Formats: sequence, C-alpha cells, structure tokens
Amino acid sequence: VSARGCAAGLDVGGTFLKGARVDADGVIEARFHEPVAKGSGEDLFHQLARAVACLESPAEPVRAVGVGLPGLVDEDGRVRRAPNVPVLNGLRVGQELALRCGRRAFAENDANAAALAEAWIGAGQGARHLLFVTLGTGVGGALVLGGRLFTGCSGYAGEIGHLQVEPDGLPCGCGSWGCLETVAGNGGWTRRAEEALARRGSSLQGQELSPANIVAAARQRDPVALEVVEGTARALGVGLAAALDLLNLDRVVIGGGVAGAGEFLLASIVEQVRQRTFADVFAACEFRLAALGGDAGVVGAARVALLGLAEG
Ligand SMILES: [Zn+2]
Repeated sequence: VSARGCAAGLDVGGTFLKGARVDADGVIEARFHEPVAKGSGEDLFHQLARAVACLESPAEPVRAVGVGLPGLVDEDGRVRRAPNVPVLNGLRVGQELALRCGRRAFAENDANAAALAEAWIGAGQGARHLLFVTLGTGVGGALVLGGRLFTGCSGYAGEIGHLQVEPDGLPCGCGSWGCLETVAGNGGWTRRAEEALARRGSSLQGQELSPANIVAAARQRDPVALEVVEGTARALGVGLAAALDLLNLDRVVIGGGVAGAGEFLLASIVEQVRQRTFADVFAACEFRLAALGGDAGVVGAARVALLGLAEG
C-alpha cells in the first residue's frame, strides 16, 4: 500500500459518468462507467457516491475524491455555465459529495482537470508553463502555469475557444462573434465543408462532414478537405499565436476528439503559429498531441483530489 494512498477521479460528461481509482503515480487501478444520472441533483449525488463506493478497495483506500465537471467552478465551489448537464448549475459538488462519502472531495472544470492530467503523466510532462486545448463540439482550454492551474479571478482563464480570430465572423454562444470555436469547433468544420462543397467537387460528397472524415480526405489530397483543414489550422494558429505572445509558454498540448486526426492537423497548426509569433517565442514552445486520450478526465480528476489533499 502506497503511503500516499490513492484517489478516486470522477468525470461527469454530458452522456456518461466515468470513474477511476488512481494511485499516487497516476496508474489506473479500477474503473467505473455508467450513463450519467442527470435527472436531478439528488440522483447525480447518489450516483457519484455509489461510484466512489465501487472504486473503493480494502487494500488501497480512496483518500479523496476529485470530480471533473462540464462547467465552470467558481471560487465558492459552485458550478456555473454547465449547459450539457444543467442540473449541475448552482450545486457545490465538492462540498456535497464530501458529506455523502465521508472524505475530502474537490470539483474542477473538466478541461482544467484534463490539463492537470496531461501535465502530470501525459504530453505536458516536464513543461513549466502549459496551455491545453481541447477540440470537439466546443474549443476548450486550460492553463497550467508553474505547475498550478491558472483559472483567473472567476474561473474563465484559458478559454482560448473564445478568442476572436475573425473580426467579421459568425455569432458565438458566448455573445461575441468570430470566436475560435465558431471556426474550429465541430460545427465550424461542417459548415465550412458545406460551403466549399457548394463550389466544387470532392470525395466528401455524400459523406458525413465530421472532422475525422475531413482530415482523412485531406490526407488523400482532396481539395475541399484540404481547404477546410487549412482554415481550421489558420484559426487555431491565430489564437495560439496570441496566447504564446502573451504568455511565452513552453508547451502546447492539443487534445479532444479532433486530436485523433493526429500529426497531419498538428503540423498545419504549428506552421500557422510560426508565421505569427516572435521567433524566440515559437522556438521556446513545443507542440504535442495529448497522450492520455479518454483517460485524461478521470486521471485529472484524481490529480485534483491529490493536489487538494496536499494543500491541506
Ligand atoms: Zn465565443
């Protein structure tokens, strides 16, 4: 039994609750996976407490619980802006769960948790100042500066998806327009592919216009797909260059579903960043694809718990 014990990491998604018991080195020892009970706050807390009980082991007691949530967690531990699991809004998940499972519990935004996981045992290992970007339906981000999450004064820091990359762009859900997310979120890929398909022929005709299909076609030099990938890379390049000139980071990690598109997309993004930053800023930064895949959420949530315990 490790002297430092282990933690339970829970990742509340829009569809599934995933959990893991994680040891002090980040190794997953047990897993939990169920559709998320989001009918009411009571249902959800029951399920979270049950997940912790399932992950418990007599040999490796769970010392603390971390919960990654699809929303912002404010300084009082209250969840805000959780559109995919609205029942979370206003709940103090850490405090409530601690009461129900009899040990310390800590809640954190899911992208922040994933960034901590990558910084701990993934593609961010060894970095001093890290930006983690998730590409999916939305474009999320998180900053780990000097080994600690930097969330700003009300939880919004790192939201790279809402940097404006097109001053005349489309409206965004945040109230602004032309945000990176409107271009590089899944909906942005589909929209731009539809626009390009209306102008010229493509192997994408009749296919689902998902980022994965678009990148696969771009690898085969399909001109429409190449145009869409180039547009995504350009928007990400604009946003990342702004972040790098502002913060002079030494690591950018790109994750989320689209990151499965791999080095092909990453290389295009890096070239776009290179053109837009100080040469020294660019040279100081390493760009990597996320390494932990679907485990980043639960490992990161466990990391949140272990860090919370260490801080007392
Ligand atoms: Zn926005």
